[in-house]
Amino acid sequence: MANVYKIGCMPGDGIGAEVIESAVAVLRACETKCGDFKLEFTDLPYGTAYYKQTGAYLPPDGLDTIRKFDAILFGAVGMPDVPDSVSLWGLLLAMRGPLQQYANLRPVKCLKSIVPAVRTAKPEDIDWVLVRENSEGEYAGQGGRSHRGFDWEVATELAIFTRHGARRILRYAFEIAQARPRKLLTVVSKSNAQRYGMVMWDEVALEVSKEFPDVKWDKMLVDAMTVRMVHKPETLDTIVGSNLHMDILSDLAAALAASIGIAPSANIDPTRQSPSMFEPVHGSAFDIMGKGIANPFGAVWSAAMMLDFLGEAKAGKMIMDAMDSCCEIGQTTGDLGGSLNTAQVTEALIKAINGY
Ligand code: ATP
Ligand code: MG
Repeated sequence: MANVYKIGCMPGDGIGAEVIESAVAVLRACETKCGDFKLEFTDLPYGTAYYKQTGAYLPPDGLDTIRKFDAILFGAVGMPDVPDSVSLWGLLLAMRGPLQQYANLRPVKCLKSIVPAVRTAKPEDIDWVLVRENSEGEYAGQGGRSHRGFDWEVATELAIFTRHGARRILRYAFEIAQARPRKLLTVVSKSNAQRYGMVMWDEVALEVSKEFPDVKWDKMLVDAMTVRMVHKPETLDTIVGSNLHMDILSDLAAALAASIGIAPSANIDPTRQSPSMFEPVHGSAFDIMGKGIANPFGAVWSAAMMLDFLGEAKAGKMIMDAMDSCCEIGQTTGDLGGSLNTAQVTEALIKAINGY
């Protein structure tokens, strides 16, 4: 009996629908080609249109619905006429917490023939996995404002770090580093300026490192890390840091390795009690929405990560190889230097998969 996976498809806003359509078509081609697993897709309508209709991004039983899936494929959320903080907290962050997706995983590498943005770097120098704490820290949503609008208004934004939260993400990062050939981990911190949370973070890193004697690890202040990523990319492999620090570093990483249009990500519950969610790093990109020119690679790569996570590594690799071969022969969208539209790139990917 073939494994059957229930996938919730949440295209969301903007180019989300365009890139998810592409990812689903590629997954379908892969399913047919492999023949040893089945994917059952269910469309989930949550996004800004749904919010405007109902007044909420998620219905009251939305999380229960979502929990029934094995994985979620997510497009993007956010439209120009709704504040980003409303859409982000209304949908994405409303799912991440309850679903315990406390790890955000972002692999970054140069696909074939893609030249890194930094002159001195060789394509093979950039092959990283970025692990971002996804449930607390600087984005804990705690704080407030008083005396609104007055000159003496005060706004606080509390960063919440718990020992439990730090330990589980650092342990997960050590596990990922251990499973990769170089067994190399860099722990990002800012313990010189942030005296409480980050000092505890460093302590926990040291504690957890003792469980992984075979992993070589070092610690790096986040500011110095930006320089190292640009000038010494080959010294890095797995990188872990707080919610804010890795938010910023992962955009830098994506830019170094090509275009934001190819960057994938996964919101993972490493305990596998809730479904994990796979989404391209880019947003809804309304400047190109409806034009059919969005690069589907970020969504397609995220779909490959999803197959990997579900245990279908062979199928995941098939998708990665298809992306590599499209890049190699220049069958890409404009942001990667090609001249194809989204539908044509999708077709090229499917052709590559069928050719294996
Ligand atoms: P959000 O707030 O939802 O993150 P944003 O506008 O801040 O949206 P993106 O949507 O990621 O950020 O877009 C940033 C820039 O990158 C835009 O100019 C957009 O057109 C471009 N871009 C993003 N994704 C893609 C893609 N898949 N293909 C081509 N260009 C893209
Ligand atoms: Mg943005």
